[in-house]
Amino acid sequence: MGKKAQEIVGMKVEELVEQLNRAYADEWLAFYQYWVAAQIASGRGSQPVVEELTRIADEELEHAEELAQRIVQLGGKPLPHPKLWLEKTNCGYSEPPDSRDLEKLLRTSIDAERCAASVYQKLATLTHSKDHITYQLVCHILAEELNHEDAFENLI
Ligand code: FE
Ligand code: FE
Repeated sequence: MGKKAQEIVGMKVEELVEQLNRAYADEWLAFYQYWVAAQIASGRGSQPVVEELTRIADEELEHAEELAQRIVQLGGKPLPHPKLWLEKTNCGYSEPPDSRDLEKLLRTSIDAERCAASVYQKLATLTHSKDHITYQLVCHILAEELNHEDAFENLI
């Protein structure tokens, strides 16, 4: 990371990288949680749920990629092993419920989105007026997490 780049972050870079890596762990777990649920969900009314899970899983993967890029720009390293995802996660992982229990599936997904939104809300507060680039990124992700919450709510 360049000297100016470090200077303008205006906060402890290691601490910021640690927080971004925790969010990064959440994104991989959310991706897999939705992706595997989409493979499993079946029965009447499952098609729109499967479509949304698949679309939103893709966006979680994009979030992971965006966070990884920012972590690297800050001179850090994205968590190098999947076992660390469960160690570092803020929001945890929920196993998909019974394949036909779409309501439970949607409720656990809504909980995951609300948790993610709180994480980005905190990251926005943490970086506000300190690291404009990370701030912009976490606000962008926050807006998408709120859209995900809304999309899952609309399916119940
Ligand atoms: Fe996400
Ligand atoms: Fe999301």
